[in-house]
Amino acid sequence: MTIRKLFLLPGDGIGTDIMSEVKKLIDWMNKELGTGFEIDEGLVGGCAYDAHGAAISDSDMNKAMAADAVLFGAVGGPKWDKVPYDSRPEAGLLRLRKEMELFANLRPAICYPALADSSSLRKEVIEGLDILIVRELTGGVYFGEPKEITDLGNGQKRAVDTQVYDTFEIERIAGVAFELARTRDNRVCSMEKRNVMKSGVLWNEAVTNIHAQKYSDVKLDHMLADAGGMQLVRAPKQFDVIVTDNLFGDMLSDIAAMLTGSLGMLPSASLGSPDPISKKRKALYEPVHGSAPDITGQGKANPIAMIASFAMCLRYSFNMTKEADIAENAISDVLQNGLRTADIMTEGNKLLTTSEMGDAILEQLANLSK
Ligand code: NAD
Repeated sequence: MTIRKLFLLPGDGIGTDIMSEVKKLIDWMNKELGTGFEIDEGLVGGCAYDAHGAAISDSDMNKAMAADAVLFGAVGGPKWDKVPYDSRPEAGLLRLRKEMELFANLRPAICYPALADSSSLRKEVIEGLDILIVRELTGGVYFGEPKEITDLGNGQKRAVDTQVYDTFEIERIAGVAFELARTRDNRVCSMEKRNVMKSGVLWNEAVTNIHAQKYSDVKLDHMLADAGGMQLVRAPKQFDVIVTDNLFGDMLSDIAAMLTGSLGMLPSASLGSPDPISKKRKALYEPVHGSAPDITGQGKANPIAMIASFAMCLRYSFNMTKEADIAENAISDVLQNGLRTADIMTEGNKLLTTSEMGDAILEQLANLSK
């Protein structure tokens, strides 16, 4: 039997609440479908700081590096607001992203039919939305040097951030976007600001070149990132896959995500380069939301973003397309049946706790797997 190594890092706050629901699914799949998931679990964030004085221990970092995929809950909370900067809860996530070299961040924005009414946009604009934003995650202005604030000595200061991209960084993120597009509607829209930024000129050139060399079967469009933001709100369904840099991707993926309603619904994946021998990519899957200390342990957390992140893991790390489709359809069906956690509750529907929602999705997954 294939062994599939999963390393779970539930983290803080509702991270543990929602990870428990994914564990139910994994246990069921192992028992009923023989999926062979081998699970190990570690600490990240504030709980890791309490246990080891660091946001992730070297030993857990090594386990993350050795796993086929990492499932990450959420980190942070008021208890750790005053810990030293280098040990703050987010430092655990940043270390994972850096050492696993997770350069591609995938953020789907899907509008479940049952929730089309809860978007801030009109139902007809949003219904049936299924787009994927591919954001470059390890380069660009968040990491470029120099990055400093200088005292000019005359009561003024100067702040500098540096937007910097090399050709290979643009080509490898574009490659991920083109490959994913081939599994979807085969269309990529690349967004940059070539009208005012040199990095935008190179971005456009490198995406165009790699497309011509290796991916000419995929339809490629280019759009200025500001126009892209407008189009995402005006007519989001025109897009299939959007590829963009770290800064624009940060903003555009949040815009796209919120088109679809609650934070509790949004999954994400971060992928690295394929290993030259095994061809497997390092990968981390996490919900977009944080640790929600305001609702921790009260049965109010929506586990859907975490479960949908696990579905992405099935799809992208294990090529289990059928099982991923079933998990996503189970989520959609449960919503269609009027079952809701508090964050997405509307009149006439049935309110469930975190664990009841996990059970309902598992029950539907079992039905659909028959
Ligand atoms: P948050 O995402 O934790 O919560 C924002 C609001 O959304 C809260 O009202 C919360 O109750 C609600 N919410 C979030 N997820 C939900 C879910 N699954 N179900 C139902 N409701 C949900 O953001 P915040 O309040 O700004 O931050 C809280 C803590 O989380 C902070 O310490 C912050 O640093 C941390 N954080 C961590 C991550 C991460 O781990 N990747 C991301 C963002 C924030």
